[in-house]
Amino acid sequence: MSKPINSFKHIEMPELLSLGQGMLKYLPEIIDKVALRGKGLLITDAFLRDKYAKEIEAIMEAEKREIVVSVIEDSTLAEVDKQLQFFKEIDAGYAIGLGGGRPIDVAKLTSFKADKRFISVPTIASHDGLASSRASLKGVDKRHSIEARPPIAVVGDTDILDNAPYRFTVAGCGDVIAKKTAVKDWLLAHRLKNELISPTSISLSEMTVKLITDNAKLIRSQAEGFSRVVMNCLIASSLAMCTAGSSRPGSGSEHMFSHALDSIAKTPALHGEQTAFGTIMMAYLHDGMEGSDGVKELMHTLGLPITAKELGVTAEEVITALEMAHTIRKRFTILGSEGLSHEAATNVALKTGVIN
Ligand SMILES: [Zn+2]
Repeated sequence: MSKPINSFKHIEMPELLSLGQGMLKYLPEIIDKVALRGKGLLITDAFLRDKYAKEIEAIMEAEKREIVVSVIEDSTLAEVDKQLQFFKEIDAGYAIGLGGGRPIDVAKLTSFKADKRFISVPTIASHDGLASSRASLKGVDKRHSIEARPPIAVVGDTDILDNAPYRFTVAGCGDVIAKKTAVKDWLLAHRLKNELISPTSISLSEMTVKLITDNAKLIRSQAEGFSRVVMNCLIASSLAMCTAGSSRPGSGSEHMFSHALDSIAKTPALHGEQTAFGTIMMAYLHDGMEGSDGVKELMHTLGLPITAKELGVTAEEVITALEMAHTIRKRFTILGSEGLSHEAATNVALKTGVIN
């Protein structure tokens, strides 16, 4: 039997969401607003150190704030341990994660292990981990991304995000499109397995898909401020996961397909590209051609890859990933507990036109 819907749990969310043009220069004010004290450890990568970390240093210095920049080489647990040691050595009071997925995930886990908070400063809007409580690190089993705490503040500067390569931003849209089947999988698990659902989380997730659909042409045109729409959706999606206390509202069979593809493809694509690609096929399993055609149309408008060739993977890799997707994690989805046979997987890929 599932737990009662009103069973008590803690819902932890970011305190401050700061999104807009030139937001970086408000960082000292943001730090005050969320009452962070002491020295800040800014975790970033080598490329962004010169591009934006120097700018942040100057902004902080002008306001007489102390900040130490640390460059990560990778996003592994060993890297987190290294940063944690440094965090303690300099007696930092908080961390800032500046970058795409990797620096943010490392800052998230480093600050969590130090029992301190962190600010997320994404430079690309490419996935919904930027405001969530879970950290995905290399070498950590994808089934068990690590539960930490969400950032205390998310700072999205649209001057930076608008100018990130479009491929990353549209991959962020792809991670939002994935909510279409993630929510359907969750509802299926609720009906079939009596799994507890959160109507609030489901509404939030569905709203993000609607926002991307309604604004697809604007996003594709890359009009000024377009990244704001994508960021709003990614943040709302993170909040849906915070509310649910799990990644259920944001991650279903399409994410399991993407994780399977990550583990076998010679050259995997971006997370959001792969999860949207998986959504085409999982939507077919849920709703037939009508479901997959709708997803493909939206992806086409946005300019996301809708064939294996465009995604840069082979037909065999797609079929193998489909066959193994159900084994990725213990989560009930449209793939059931047995998954797809080789013939069924081939049929799904052929019918939805992702391979030919
Ligand atoms: Zn995702």
